[in-house]
Amino acid sequence: MSVLPIRIFGDPVLRERAGEVTDFDRALRALAENMLETMRAAQGAGLAANQVGVLKRLFTWELPGEDDAQPNPHGSWVNPEITETSAELQEGDEGCLSFPGLFYPTERPLRARMRAQDVFGDPHEVAAEGQLARIILHEVDHLNGILFIDHLARHSKKEALRRIRSGELELNAAGQGEGLPAGVGNAL
Ligand code: ZN
Repeated sequence: MSVLPIRIFGDPVLRERAGEVTDFDRALRALAENMLETMRAAQGAGLAANQVGVLKRLFTWELPGEDDAQPNPHGSWVNPEITETSAELQEGDEGCLSFPGLFYPTERPLRARMRAQDVFGDPHEVAAEGQLARIILHEVDHLNGILFIDHLARHSKKEALRRIRSGELELNAAGQGEGLPAGVGNAL
């Protein structure tokens, strides 16, 4: 397994739509393993393939577990499709591994349903709520070239773009691992 470089905002691959996965082979499973390792190294809770420069519809996720003796709930989903979202919304700070150090209140549906395949190609229906719903919606957006700043209130987006233009992302990316900001568990 290996840790892959994470693409930072400004890289055009983050604005592209990823293509359907048709080959459920060893290469796909190796990519999913590498993405899990990359996500964990960056202390993220989600990672889409675009973020490591691969235009395939695949993302990984991990939630903090309740029992330290057990592995955290985690997984990889392929060709995900959101089939339903709740009208009820959730508030909360959200960040993105492609925007290191930036966290903003981001409104999302509280619940989401998704159809997806696992890395062997078997179909699944996933019902998610709270943090997992936030992760799924954020990652499926990535696969469609949509970024979390697109969901921000106007004043937050303005401030985020100002901070990005001032070179803050590159600075934060260079300093990764040297002390992480609060709320890093929501970096997706
Ligand atoms: Zn992200």
